[in-house]
Amino acid sequence: MGFFGQAIATFPDLRTAENTRYSIRDAALGAFSVFFNQSPSLIAHQRSMELSKGKSNAGTIFGVHQIPTDNHIRSLLDPAEESLLAPAFGKVFEQLHAEGKLTGLRCFDGSLLVALDGAWFHNSESVHCKQCNYREHREGRTTYYHSAITPVIVSLGSNRVVSLEPEFIWPQDGAAKQDCELLLEHRYNCILTCKYGSNSCLKKWIDEADAKLDSNEHFEKHWDGKRRRTRRYRFANGVPIRDDENALTVNWMELAILGEDGTPTARHVFVTNHELTRENVAAYVDAGRSRWKIENQHNNTLKTKGYNLEHNFGRGKEKLANLLLSMNLLAFPFHTMFELSEPRNRLIRKTLLRRDRFFHDVKALTQYFLFDSWNALMRFMLERLDLEDPGRIAVPVK
Ligand SMILES: [Zn+2]
Repeated sequence: MGFFGQAIATFPDLRTAENTRYSIRDAALGAFSVFFNQSPSLIAHQRSMELSKGKSNAGTIFGVHQIPTDNHIRSLLDPAEESLLAPAFGKVFEQLHAEGKLTGLRCFDGSLLVALDGAWFHNSESVHCKQCNYREHREGRTTYYHSAITPVIVSLGSNRVVSLEPEFIWPQDGAAKQDCELLLEHRYNCILTCKYGSNSCLKKWIDEADAKLDSNEHFEKHWDGKRRRTRRYRFANGVPIRDDENALTVNWMELAILGEDGTPTARHVFVTNHELTRENVAAYVDAGRSRWKIENQHNNTLKTKGYNLEHNFGRGKEKLANLLLSMNLLAFPFHTMFELSEPRNRLIRKTLLRRDRFFHDVKALTQYFLFDSWNALMRFMLERLDLEDPGRIAVPVK
């Protein structure tokens, strides 16, 4: 994990005299190994292995010289800004791009779809830190929480996702501007989900223009696996989102799934800056709908298997909560990089079918056996699965 090593070398070292036993590097590698292995108990197990065998997988696989306690990890990493991990996110992305590994994730027009989703974590009414957002309730209670936008590259034809650097939301950020204004200001291409009727100006414009939309309306028959459904696509380019002359305009599209009597049973509305045509509207609607896919796939993985790890280290006083969330998210593109670039890892993952099965096995094996390296662990798994060794590792773990 050379990219990770480079990023943590920039972490501030504010160690005091009584806290010099463990290095910042060991604390960071120790924390990351927990997220990388998806194993909250990793530190405890490796410490006991170190006691009994004099060595542990935390050292051989992850390069930790001396395994710090959770307390030490908390205090040593607390001063580090999560933005110090940004270069690692960038470099993993660049490497995947340079090796052509993102090609399979590209959508119909060659672009990458990045789904933006919000995540709330560290909700508490009692424990809080300096970076907490808070909400005051009427009856006097206060809820403290952290939140972040977690961008993820998704693809229509693949289950593979690549998470990008999260953007943390601060109390002062507010929401005066609409998402699409912010995105367009920064010249991003975007497709945004739009609740029918949620933007009154847009709704008024569309309702009034309904009659004129004839030329931009067409129907397609679609087999949904059970029955034939009619899909009605409608779109309009250059629709103002506010009721004033200088308002930003967006391109609007709608897919309605029609019941047998022709009334819509489901409606999907999006706005985008892509110029819509009769030929491309279905593809853009599909791209917009793929957003829900991460809700079902990736974010569930993050929420059920990732975010629960926040309890492992607890919360720091300064910056730890956001740093650990970033580290947790960073483990995912590292997994993707390993899976795509490393033949042994890829073959084992493919054979075990599920990612949780893979990590379950890695967790159990590293708890009981000492391996010389990640490579040695992969070789062991290949052998026991009766698989032919496809070749050596391309990506260093340490
Ligand atoms: Zn906090």
